[in-house]
Amino acid sequence: MFFERQVNLKTPADLQIMREAGRINAMVLARVKELLQPGVTTADLNAAAEEVLKSHGSVSPFKGYGRPPFPASITVSINDEMVHGIPQPKRKLKEGDIVSIDCGTIHAGFVADSAFTAGVGQISPEAKHLLEVTEGALYAGIDKMRKGKRTGDVSAAIQKYVESNGLHVTREYTGHGVGKGMHEAPQVPNVGIAGSGLLLKPGMTIALEPMVLIGTHETRVLPDQWTVVSADGSLTAHFEHTVAVTEGEPLILTVL
Ligand code: MG
Ligand code: MG
Repeated sequence: MFFERQVNLKTPADLQIMREAGRINAMVLARVKELLQPGVTTADLNAAAEEVLKSHGSVSPFKGYGRPPFPASITVSINDEMVHGIPQPKRKLKEGDIVSIDCGTIHAGFVADSAFTAGVGQISPEAKHLLEVTEGALYAGIDKMRKGKRTGDVSAAIQKYVESNGLHVTREYTGHGVGKGMHEAPQVPNVGIAGSGLLLKPGMTIALEPMVLIGTHETRVLPDQWTVVSADGSLTAHFEHTVAVTEGEPLILTVL
């Protein structure tokens, strides 16, 4: 079972490097966020992200990842698109869209992974609620990233936060360990049972990433083989941080 795969514990020196990777990743996301205006293309957003990465001598692990190879450094997922949207030169943002941006940064051999969703101009109250609940769920999960807790405590906190706010959380897509690889053990689902799963220890670094849908939890993948959309066309959102378990408070690595 995936949970029993080896978890790579990070040393304090590793964590320092991952913190720097996280800082660069946060700068990329901040730059892209500034550009979320009507008329901007999703390829423009990718180009801006690549400029920031390049200025730090970094690259994104997304580019060339998987089959077919992902062609860009960030994913841009609009409205019913939940994750893994491919940047395109002809796809323009419109007033009222909600846009999820996910980026990874490789710095000195370690990866940081983070995402946010934000509105373009004025968004509906329904969309605003979705964004608030999804971000709140991420922080509910982060609060359980403590020595002595288990991965199931994190999963259950995310699920409970989303469902108690009347929304739905994905079953198929999960948080994950992150370090020298973008995806390491353990897998941390967005639904789960408190008290179950792997024991959290200092030095574990996990990307938590609730993906929330308004209509149902079901999704499908578009023919481009990457873009994941809500099955019913309802709005979706995604927030993610890379977080380290320490002897004390959870340490969010993907902030400025
Ligand atoms: Mg990500
Ligand atoms: Mg991730």
